[in-house]
Amino acid sequence: QEVVNRIAAGEVIQRPANALKELIENSLDAKSTSIQITVKNGGLKLLQIQDNGTGIRKEDFEIVCERFTTSKLREFEDLHKISTYGFRGEALASISHVAHLTITSKTKKEVCAYQAEYCDSKLKAAPKPLAGNQGTIITVEDLFYNMNVRRNALRSPAEEYQKISDVVSKYAIHNASIGFALKKHGGNNDIRTPNNSNHTENIRLIYGSSIARELVEFSLTNDNLQFTCKGLMTNVNYSTKKFQFLLFINHRLVDNQSLKKCIDTVYQTYLPKNGHPFVYLSLELDPNNIDVNVHPTKHEVHFLNEGQIVETVTTALEQKLLGSNR
Ligand code: ADP
Ligand code: MG
Repeated sequence: QEVVNRIAAGEVIQRPANALKELIENSLDAKSTSIQITVKNGGLKLLQIQDNGTGIRKEDFEIVCERFTTSKLREFEDLHKISTYGFRGEALASISHVAHLTITSKTKKEVCAYQAEYCDSKLKAAPKPLAGNQGTIITVEDLFYNMNVRRNALRSPAEEYQKISDVVSKYAIHNASIGFALKKHGGNNDIRTPNNSNHTENIRLIYGSSIARELVEFSLTNDNLQFTCKGLMTNVNYSTKKFQFLLFINHRLVDNQSLKKCIDTVYQTYLPKNGHPFVYLSLELDPNNIDVNVHPTKHEVHFLNEGQIVETVTTALEQKLLGSNR
């Protein structure tokens, strides 16, 4: 049974960057205003995330790593949001099957923090009290220590770190009111955004002022197709080496190849050969319209009326770019 659990966990957590994505989502759900990430050896030796959110109550330490246990099913709307995006209490449980997991947390009410280690969904010993501030520290060590196949399939620590950095950059830009920091253990911050910042400022901090200077604002509401789309993108005259595409659907970082392709095509029409844009979009859809058949571990997301929505967004974006360019 443990082998089965481990294989299932390895499907949910495929590499350090997607473990981190789940942990960031948890910190955001806990209403944190500051999220700090520390990494050793591309996240394989250490992946640690510290937040100042609501914390985990002492009595909940027992259950947070049990599969399908979630504290987030209070309202129907929540239930729907979670059923749409998967991970019904699977993230911490999965991590505990493929890594050494330690949780340290303090709620506002408790006088001290508690710390506990987990293995295969279970507490190793009763949580022990220690001094600490409100919030949670999740420490993931030796990821895939018990899964040679998965570990050997990973790229170099440098490439894994690049993917981690990519995830942090994107969440920091989307959640501009929240301060993010990323560093290698013992090093300086590679990413640092203040809280109460804004999207443009964070793009400048992370991707540089030459991109931030060329940004055009985009905003679209379509009642008929029931979506809104907001974002920032570089002007058609400005090209980057690589197509940087940041897409959030209902505040979760996802991929959608058809939207990505259509937008790149618009730019290809106007940009000098081989140029690419920087595009950040936040799409909000009725959660009912997101395809629940796509497995939650897949980053690619599909939705109802996808073709029409993609076309509407692409057309509006093209007009906006041409208009701003006159
Ligand atoms: P889910 O997010 O779907 O509930 P997870 O496995 O990601 O499942 O987390 C399990 C539970 O652990 C959450 O429901 C939440 O109660 C608690 N939790 C996890 N991370 C944090 C955090 N950073 N701050 C507060 N609570 C947390
Ligand atoms: Mg979660």
